[in-house]
Amino acid sequence: MLNAQAESRAMSGTYANDAARWHAFRGRDNAADGKFIVAVKTTGIYCRPVCPARPAKRENVEFFDTVGAARKVGYRACLRCKPDDISERERVAKLITRACRRIEHDETIPSVGTLAADAKLSEGRFHRLFKQATGLSPRQYALAKRVEAFRARLKSGETVTAALYDAGFNSSSRAYEASRRLGAKPSDVVRGGAALTIRVGVARSSLGFVGVGMSERGLCALTFGDSAKAAHDAVQAHFPKARLLDAGGALDKELKRVVALVEEPKDGIDLPLDIRGTAFQERVWQALRRIPVGGTKTYGEIAKAIGKPTAQRAVAQACGANPIAVAIPCHRVVAAHGALGGYGYGLKRKQALLKKEAAE
Ligand SMILES: [Zn+2]
Repeated sequence: MLNAQAESRAMSGTYANDAARWHAFRGRDNAADGKFIVAVKTTGIYCRPVCPARPAKRENVEFFDTVGAARKVGYRACLRCKPDDISERERVAKLITRACRRIEHDETIPSVGTLAADAKLSEGRFHRLFKQATGLSPRQYALAKRVEAFRARLKSGETVTAALYDAGFNSSSRAYEASRRLGAKPSDVVRGGAALTIRVGVARSSLGFVGVGMSERGLCALTFGDSAKAAHDAVQAHFPKARLLDAGGALDKELKRVVALVEEPKDGIDLPLDIRGTAFQERVWQALRRIPVGGTKTYGEIAKAIGKPTAQRAVAQACGANPIAVAIPCHRVVAAHGALGGYGYGLKRKQALLKKEAAE
């Protein structure tokens, strides 16, 4: 069963009524070619809707679904537009192309049944023809197109979450399922920060040198190092493919704010964050940001909080991959049984941060 919306779309798409056909014929609508036949009563000739011959008057025109139907009542083919030449293959190619466009543009992936009804074919035949033409099943095609759109949006700088939704995935798990089937990970695109330009500055803090990376959208990296170079290199390590620009004094304001955050994490930071990770990493990082100042959570608790109770190791990895230390408080995640757990910038720094937060 088609729903009303799909039905009306199918109708307009197939030029189902004479008014739509006349409109398409008069406007030389290229998309109408092969969809119906125009016959002119005064000349006894039938044409393709895109015939370059002069359009006839409305009252002299009638429409047929097929060449055969026009011929049956005595019309002859126009020598100019050669309506009989629209071969079956052309017709099928058009139907499949139309199905492709619909798959790309519909908010939710249309079912094979809907697409087949749209093309006025049986499901089996539609599926076969679609696969012949594209090499993919309609569903594979839909997923491939959505992954493609997702990548394009990431490259244009959207966050993972926004890109997922805009590309027509209504959950990140769907995107992952799709990308897994297609043998490519959306994370491949994010990872490395390709096409990203980051302004970098380094400042001193009580915990050593702090590396600060600013993208156009905000703070995308906060690192530590025992030397200015180490802190700087740590920014690059998080975004190996990004172009790093030494900001000189241009980041003084941001550096001050970041150092203030490091010294007094409980005050928070007054800078927009540009959080860039895989969908999974971003879920973990959001969970970290919900740990209140002065509190800690175990890897297992974070795993549970994001609905992946068995993903403790992946959670730990996501914590380790966190590019914005302190602002995304991965230092608040500890091992079970009161052990401190690891920290990418050394346990001393983790301990010091927790101590600062606990003190009151
Ligand atoms: Zn013609």
